[in-house]
Amino acid sequence: MNKIMVLFYFLGGVAVMKKKSWIKIALSFAVQCKWKILLSVICAIIGVFAGIVPYWCAYKIIELFVNGSISLNQIAYYCLAAVSGYAVRYLFHGISTTLSHLSAYNILENIRLSLARTFVKAPLGYVMGESVGKLKSIIVDRVETIELPLAHVIPECISNITLSISVFAYLTFIDWRMALAMLITVPIAGTSYMIMMKNFNSEYAKYMETSNYVNSVIVEYVEGIEVIKAFNQSTTSYNKFVNAIKTFRNSTLAWYKSVWKYMNFGNSVLPSTFLGVLPIGLILYVNGQISPQNLVICLILSLGVVGPMMNFTNYINEAKAIEYALHDVSNELETPVLSDSEKDIEIKDNTIELKNISFSYDGNLDNKVLSDIDCIFKKNEFTALVGPSGSGKSTIARLIARFWDTNEGSILIGGVDIRDISISKLNELISFVTQDTYLFNCSVKENIRLGNPDASDTEVFNAAKLACCDEFIKELESGYDTVVGNAGNKLSGGEKQRISIARMILKNSPIVILDEATAFTDPENESKLQQSLSALSKGKLLLVIAHRLSTIKNADKIIVLNNGKIENMGTHEELLQNCELYHDMWLSHIGAKNWSANSKRKEVL
Ligand code: ADP
Repeated sequence: MNKIMVLFYFLGGVAVMKKKSWIKIALSFAVQCKWKILLSVICAIIGVFAGIVPYWCAYKIIELFVNGSISLNQIAYYCLAAVSGYAVRYLFHGISTTLSHLSAYNILENIRLSLARTFVKAPLGYVMGESVGKLKSIIVDRVETIELPLAHVIPECISNITLSISVFAYLTFIDWRMALAMLITVPIAGTSYMIMMKNFNSEYAKYMETSNYVNSVIVEYVEGIEVIKAFNQSTTSYNKFVNAIKTFRNSTLAWYKSVWKYMNFGNSVLPSTFLGVLPIGLILYVNGQISPQNLVICLILSLGVVGPMMNFTNYINEAKAIEYALHDVSNELETPVLSDSEKDIEIKDNTIELKNISFSYDGNLDNKVLSDIDCIFKKNEFTALVGPSGSGKSTIARLIARFWDTNEGSILIGGVDIRDISISKLNELISFVTQDTYLFNCSVKENIRLGNPDASDTEVFNAAKLACCDEFIKELESGYDTVVGNAGNKLSGGEKQRISIARMILKNSPIVILDEATAFTDPENESKLQQSLSALSKGKLLLVIAHRLSTIKNADKIIVLNNGKIENMGTHEELLQNCELYHDMWLSHIGAKNWSANSKRKEVL
């Protein structure tokens, strides 16, 4: 760690109280652009000191008048010096803010990318468990708030503190009583700020709570607008939306009311340094204890310190927003992520082995959704998972794709525990298509190409033909270049599914998991799709979850799940003989519910 980093960490460490200080968090982000930020602070310091030069020049001119030795040349000289002081001030202030903004926006970019990486590496359940509104608000609004400490608070506060301390030291050197007199407004304004802070925290906490809530309700409202319209939900969802907005307005006003009186009082008193220096200075002058020149410089410098002091107060109100933003972002960045192996292990074959898997979504094994699952999906075979809704089929598929880690037991691919396979390698090994197909708001071609970014247009078109979507894509307004809209909302469920199957075909991984992937496909296309899939899955391990049992009838092995446990396994014929649950599911599938238990078995076989 170099010296600058040590300095940043030290400053942060000094600010650490009981919990992780927001100053420490801000500095830990600032370290990423430490040189630029340091240069920005130096320029800011030069800028504020240059800002004092005009005051000093005014003093010199007054001094010359008092001494009676004023000349036009001297006036011109000090006026020029004052103008130069202003120019230097604005030049260095400009350089400082440019550097601090460049650093800040680079850091914000890094934070947003880190958040995106964290969400990808976190267990899927974590991201799915958070409201979209909250995540959007953190990635967009909270991260944006961090611009304040990085681009403004660090350079401006450091330079203003330096100036205030320097002016105070200089006044102490001239006359310590005048220096203390300059500070007379600090305890008065400080008391007002302290009273304000008494309710500030609780009111601000309420404001933040309602702000998060209103964010999530707005997202829910927009996402659910179709249902709200269809069911004329004026009394439930719409009211929820209106109430959320009203509560947000009330809590914002309550917070504002609790602070504005004290804030305004403090802000008007703090810069009124004349309240102290003028009477004290005059008393000292009348008693002959201060020279007229020193009195004038004290008055002028006390005025010069007003601007920098006021810059501080601008951040008092923002301090809580900054604190919340930094804590929220830092908490999200610290989200526990799935361990990622750095070993480059060779996976010899695509056999999947589930060894004594037990799993609960909340980590509490009293709420297990899978218990003692022990089975093998042999290499290059077609295995199907069937069972009643909620029996755990999708959970098994998600665990194999490592969207979550198992609580007990292990999953092996080619004999290697999936936790020892790097996440990117595992993603290469597995293609996972679910019924909740998500398409990005780009062209159909680009959506398919996500399966293999290096694929040529011809390869994309071939994959689309195999997935039975070439025909309908060609009929779209711009064919393969048609933009599919947000989340693919310009396409039907079946069309989206076929595009995601084309994506999977293009990916060409050795393990293919289809979780109700053809559920929305019409019967005509489904049979074509089945043929394509069985042709494509040669030499691959195919794991299919399907309600329509006819689509998995030819599987090499069918595993029947019930209540999170394996009820039975075997081929279609074996299960019809041996597994009552499968047998019943099959009968209800082919619509032969009225058959008698004995006769139906014979007929079906
Ligand atoms: P299936 O695919 O057989 O319909 P699932 O694997 O989706 O069943 O679900 C198995 C059980 O896990 C169900 O009781 C379901 O409510 C529960 N479950 C599924 N997903 C989640 C989740 N993200 N968080 C908590 N519980 C879940």
